Amino acid sequence: MRVLVLGGDGYLGWPTALHLSRRGHDVAVADNFVRRQYDYELGVESLVPIESLQTRIAAWKDVTGESIGIYVGDLTDADFTYEMLRDFRPEAVVHFAEQRAAPYSMIDRKHAVYTQVNNVVGTLNLLYAISEVDRDIHLVKLGTMGEYGTPEIDIEEGWLEVEHKGRTDRVLYPKRPGSFYHLSKVHDSHNIEFTCRIWGLRATDLNQGVVYGQQTPETVLDDRLATRFDYDAVFGTVLNRFVIQAVLGHPLTVYGTGGQRRGIIDIRDTVRCIELACENPAERGEFRVFNQMTEAMSVQELADTVARCFPGGVEIDHLDNPRVEKEEHYYNVVHTRLLDLGLTPHLLSDTLITSLFDVAKRYADRVRPEALLPKVNWRDHASPVQET
Ligand code: NAD
Repeated sequence: MRVLVLGGDGYLGWPTALHLSRRGHDVAVADNFVRRQYDYELGVESLVPIESLQTRIAAWKDVTGESIGIYVGDLTDADFTYEMLRDFRPEAVVHFAEQRAAPYSMIDRKHAVYTQVNNVVGTLNLLYAISEVDRDIHLVKLGTMGEYGTPEIDIEEGWLEVEHKGRTDRVLYPKRPGSFYHLSKVHDSHNIEFTCRIWGLRATDLNQGVVYGQQTPETVLDDRLATRFDYDAVFGTVLNRFVIQAVLGHPLTVYGTGGQRRGIIDIRDTVRCIELACENPAERGEFRVFNQMTEAMSVQELADTVARCFPGGVEIDHLDNPRVEKEEHYYNVVHTRLLDLGLTPHLLSDTLITSLFDVAKRYADRVRPEALLPKVNWRDHASPVQET
């Protein structure tokens, strides 16, 4: 099928595009390269060097003979978004193209506004474009498990049956997210559900857990196909950051008690889940939600796993938590729908962590150690006079 991957230059979009291309789909990617711009702004870069998108696509052609199309532009530019859909005529659009770091969205007013405008307006333009170009296009949208927060009841897959004063209804699962970034995803989910209901669009909202890992069977075919590996306190996801701290001989920095439980998923399962969602589309008018995670672990358990696997061991430090979140809480998530479609999960294993240690060792001289420590605080955002 024809699949358009938005955010195809990013950590997950690039390996997904390769995976879909290798499975025989006709793939194009779109990106405005703003992720590379955040690196310049924050003074960090991916631990693993990444090639330009054009070089990556040429390398894919060299290695496999397969072509991937490319659209350079910004989803908040409606003309670009409409033109791209008219030109490529996708059957499925996989939408990764958002600002995705909670700490980035909590830096100050400017970053919160940027995050919400970029994410909500980009998605809204896309919904209008799908509606006007071809309502049969299946939107596969990346949401996050962070949309739900940590409620005292089981987290269902997007919808909740409610009984109230003797009557029942099926409602969108109530959300209580923990950052302006996560809130942007909640706003997206509402906008998408609305357009399924009123225009009859078809959409799958993938509430994904925290992703770990850096390699997929496709990215390892050639160094030029590598995807990002972020380690800094703003963009580095927790397990990847712990691996790099271990390799550098730094203590692993757990925020607060480390009792925060989160859904997690291996990057190899992310790309497979996207394939399953595309190949089994939602019905017209259906807003479908899958919880895209394979297991739940606390931050302390993740740190203990890394420390146990690292030869010679490593220290674990508990820092004052810069975030506002419950550190001990109930967390029970239903996540069966992707398994029902055929996902066979890779659970966090010592083999994966060992291979991540090797990646981190190879590029350890590129790390800026000061970038590992959190500087963004949820309680004290920068005052307006400090804004530029
Ligand atoms: P990423 O930042 O590496 O990739 C996102 C890509 O989208 C970047 O290349 C960026 O340049 C592009 N982009 C952003 N705004 C754009 C715009 N307006 N127009 C065009 N391109 C734009 O992020 P990622 O880690 O690959 O995450 C991809 C998606 O998955 C995000 O939506 C994120 O919220 C979601 N997600 C990620 C994780 C994770 O652990 N990485 C977990 C849950 C959900």
